[in-house]
Amino acid sequence: MSEKTIFKKIIDKEIPASILYEDDFCLAFRDVMPQAPVHFLVIPKKEIASVNEIDEADAALIGRIFSVIRKLAKDEGIAESGYRVVTNCGADACQTVPHLHYHVIGGRSMAWPPG
Ligand code: 5GP
Repeated sequence: MSEKTIFKKIIDKEIPASILYEDDFCLAFRDVMPQAPVHFLVIPKKEIASVNEIDEADAALIGRIFSVIRKLAKDEGIAESGYRVVTNCGADACQTVPHLHYHVIGGRSMAWPPG
């Protein structure tokens, strides 16, 4: 059996995380290296490695993840100011954890160049 990913260890409560939301299907927790005042990750509990492995049968699960994103964006106070939802897929996108995850980043302007 392959080694558990760090996110599977968080799901299994083998390592701690600052958990914002949990149900039978999804988990949301703060990113350990936040890129903005608000930066959390929403993941399925099902072990899906990346967008490449999402199946048609996962449609309801992905919809649920976006419901959680919407709820937490409101709870975290960024629903109105705006936020970015990002999922990195594979090496060129610099995906470092092979368990599907959606970054939710907000609380500052992401205009580029800044200013
Ligand atoms: P990726 O680069 O795969 O899109 O994003 C992985 C994210 O997971 C990174 O933003 C990184 O900071 C975060 N991360 C990695 N290890 C841990 C951890 O042990 N706990 C938490 N909360 N976040 C982690």
